[in-house]
Amino acid sequence: METPPERLFLGFWAQNMPMQLNYIANACVLSSSGKTIPVIDPSDGQVFDEIQRSNAADLDTAVTAARDCFELVWQHITAAERGRLMLRLSNKITEHADELALLEQRDCGKPVKQARADAAALARYFEFYAGACDKLHGDTLPYLNGYSVMTWREPHGVTGHIIPWNYPMQIFGRSVGGALAAGNVCVVKPSEDACLSLIRVAQLAAEVGFPAGAINVVTGYGHEVGDALARHAGIDHISFTGSPSVGTLIQQVAAVRHCPVTLELGGKSPQIVFADANLDEAIPTLINAIVQNAGQTCSAGSRLLVEQSIYEPLLERLGAAFEALRIGPAAMDLDVGPLIRQSQQQRVWDFLSDAQVAGIAMVAQGQIVDEAPDTGFYQAPTLLRDVPVMHRLAQEEVFGPILCAMSFKNEAHAIELANATAFGLVAGVWTQDGARQFRVAKKVRAGQVFINNYGAGGGVELPFGGVKSSGYGREKGFEALLGFTTLKTVAVKHG
Ligand code: NAD
Repeated sequence: METPPERLFLGFWAQNMPMQLNYIANACVLSSSGKTIPVIDPSDGQVFDEIQRSNAADLDTAVTAARDCFELVWQHITAAERGRLMLRLSNKITEHADELALLEQRDCGKPVKQARADAAALARYFEFYAGACDKLHGDTLPYLNGYSVMTWREPHGVTGHIIPWNYPMQIFGRSVGGALAAGNVCVVKPSEDACLSLIRVAQLAAEVGFPAGAINVVTGYGHEVGDALARHAGIDHISFTGSPSVGTLIQQVAAVRHCPVTLELGGKSPQIVFADANLDEAIPTLINAIVQNAGQTCSAGSRLLVEQSIYEPLLERLGAAFEALRIGPAAMDLDVGPLIRQSQQQRVWDFLSDAQVAGIAMVAQGQIVDEAPDTGFYQAPTLLRDVPVMHRLAQEEVFGPILCAMSFKNEAHAIELANATAFGLVAGVWTQDGARQFRVAKKVRAGQVFINNYGAGGGVELPFGGVKSSGYGREKGFEALLGFTTLKTVAVKHG
């Protein structure tokens, strides 16, 4: 078959210009579209690379490779051998941690220590799930006399993973790691805004012996190749992490063919601080929970609910800490890096101008350093006070370093405010009162509640997910493996 002219051109270009290719069946592959998408460094707004703008045909190639791998190789590998492969990949990721962190730093604008923490978390996910591969099993069930009944946990087959730009490595680790451990093979569609680290991880997997087709990475726009993934009849399960609106689209498309979906959507998570809280411990965590990754974290503690009697002194202390925060290029490794892209920066600006119109007072702001190029996408962390509970700043996900404070009168009022959004991802509760800790944890509607902490150490082992508009299904921890399998009941009549 003759190679079309645009492929010849791209082939030449690939050798002479930086350009990332899809990774399908352990090979670097050009998109059949002949088109690419520029990769922009959020620290200076400049193009530094290109990725493939893949289409439905490329996605189909990846699904075919994955299916062949599943049928011919992967399902015949023992669980213990899968675990050994995953552990080898974990070690390989650790060996290449600096390289991966650098890719993520440039691609996402993450300060160096954040990018390194994400590479370490990715290695940890593969280590955790490596150990889980051969511990996943069904049950035997009591039934009628003369029968033996058992349940088998079987992989779905080919799982599709649609990944956002805010934590590519971490979300790949928890989602692809869990799916592989449960015996699936994966087709991954990273965000068009951040995919470099994931293409590299797929290459590393091949280097440690993953069979061709076990991990495939296809880049491109959500409405093109993401949509194709959700529609493809060969995808047996979809793990989607991203915005609630796209989550709805994915569900609608998947519903047509009854494909199961796990949705990890956004949040508007409250930090509830009672008057008896240890503020010395709480304050650094409250700040980190909103400025980490420039506030572009689904679990960001973006609403600060404070008991009336300590509202003013706590805002004073937090204000001083916000003013000390420094924002600048990722490579400078300051407290906060840039936002991912110009449209995200504009989104945050729109929220802040709405705050101004509504007369919402600003307590304090961090400082963007002089070295930060004007062309980068910077936003200083901002502390706002007395934000009305129904204002969009207190209701919608800003996905920027904006903390909205409000006060509460008593425990019942705190719970009412905590539950007063459409989301239900995470809640932080700060109090020394043991009975109150449990009462509040029971009444807050969230997938996870952290008491006197806020998810320290990454929480690879802890199931994670939301309720309400934050999604459903759980990833991370052993629990994720249940979602990446289907249960088969086998009843034997033996007399
Ligand atoms: P997004 O929903 O725009 O994109 C997420 C992914 O979906 C990307 O890969 C994108 O290309 C793809 N996509 C977009 N349109 C699509 C379509 N029509 N069909 C199929 N795929 C499509 O979200 P984002 O801007 O990348 O990420 C930010 C959002 O993700 C925030 O709302 C954040 O809270 C959420 N998030 C949630 C979690 C969690 O675990 N709950 C984690 C990270 C991010």
